[in-house]
Amino acid sequence: MFDQATLIPTDELKIFREKIHQIARGKIAPQASLVDEEEFFNREVESLLWNHGLLTLTFPEEYGGIGKNKTVALCIAVEEIAKYCASSALLLIIQAVGSFPIIHSGSAELKRKYLPQMSKGRKLVAYLVTEPSAGSDVSGIRTTAKRGGDHYLLNGSKCFATSGGVAGIYSVLAKTSEEKGKSSFFLVEREFQGLSIGRTERKLGQRGSNTTEVFLDNVKVPAENLLGIEGEGFLIAMKDFDMSRPAIGAQALGIAEGALEVLLQSIKEKHALQKPIRDYPIIQMILADSATLIEASRGLVYRAAILCDEGKNNTKLASMAKCFAADAAMKVTTEIIDALQILDGYGALGKLDAERMFRDAKLTQIFEGTNQIQRLVIARQLLKEWMG
Ligand SMILES: Cc1cc2nc3c(=O)[nH]c(=O)nc-3n(C[C@H](O)[C@H](O)[C@H](O)COP(=O)(O)OP(=O)(O)OC[C@H]3O[C@@H](n4cnc5c(N)ncnc54)[C@H](O)[C@@H]3O)c2cc1C
Repeated sequence: MFDQATLIPTDELKIFREKIHQIARGKIAPQASLVDEEEFFNREVESLLWNHGLLTLTFPEEYGGIGKNKTVALCIAVEEIAKYCASSALLLIIQAVGSFPIIHSGSAELKRKYLPQMSKGRKLVAYLVTEPSAGSDVSGIRTTAKRGGDHYLLNGSKCFATSGGVAGIYSVLAKTSEEKGKSSFFLVEREFQGLSIGRTERKLGQRGSNTTEVFLDNVKVPAENLLGIEGEGFLIAMKDFDMSRPAIGAQALGIAEGALEVLLQSIKEKHALQKPIRDYPIIQMILADSATLIEASRGLVYRAAILCDEGKNNTKLASMAKCFAADAAMKVTTEIIDALQILDGYGALGKLDAERMFRDAKLTQIFEGTNQIQRLVIARQLLKEWMG
């Protein structure tokens, strides 16, 4: 139905897409509604994702990664899974986001110690940046890391941690200096004394993903668990965004495609006043607008991902992809709810898949930087290019 192949750079990745599509449709889709309704983290789907190497896609090859084109591969997997279950797709994204600091900036020794724990040991990683008083403004974090001999002592409260309650390892951003913005990433094990899990959040959408508070109370972290150079955590977080924002765009794209598929299925046999419902202009407008937004999102998402894999600056395109695809998913799912209402009146509320997708889409406008922040990034990048 969609031109999914043109932007995929290799035949291997086209085959990969087909494989993920089959897994998502056959094994993940049947559980999506239940996971949403009962708001639980699905260990069965987690195992499935491990079994197919999808939770180590972006790792170095010797630790289970795909090697070349890893951002594109991540986007493909996320898109295919999000068509049926956005919560499961988010698990893939956060595993890539949380492991990025060690993959990008960890010492060889640290990688040898922790990456096998994550890949062979199947430990999930959470990414602890956001705090009650610091979301969009990452430089406002209050969690501190104070050096004392061969270790750091971490103290602070983190919130909105995806996989917070189910992870075995945490990438934690903490202030290592009084100077604003001077922060560093640390790798923290779940078993380290002083780390505790707080409230599990109840969310509007993506309810099958686990989102919690995480508290750090005098957590003693070995000095060698510092990732990269002290004070450069903010730069690592920005680099991480170049990969994660296309991936969130891919999630939004998948949600929009899933919703359109629901509408197409719903209108297949339906008639009103002796005329197939698909022949009504109001339905055709919605189909046309949705399909166009989906194709435009796809173009941005995969161009941003390809640039990332080529090691080229993709900051502007990554923000465009995330922002556009998330807004598009919101628009598409809203229009599809409207269309279903035309088909079925009050019964539209019973079309659970579309209703879930509508709620799931909203979150893509918020995490990995809200869409307002993406617009600021795009404008700043544009002005930088223009002014030289
Ligand atoms: C489901 C979910 C999962 C998440 N997972 C994680 C995770 O795993 N790890 C993690 O660290 N964080 C995570 N987050 C946090 C997420 O990244 C933040 O919610 C997001 O960055 C926004 O921060 P905030 O909620 O504190 O909003 P605020 O920063 O307080 O912003 C409030 C509003 O003001 C707007 N705003 C702020 N500054 C500006 C500005 N300069 N110009 C214009 N508008 C502005 C924002 O767009 C927003 O609408 C998650 C969030 C959600 C909802």
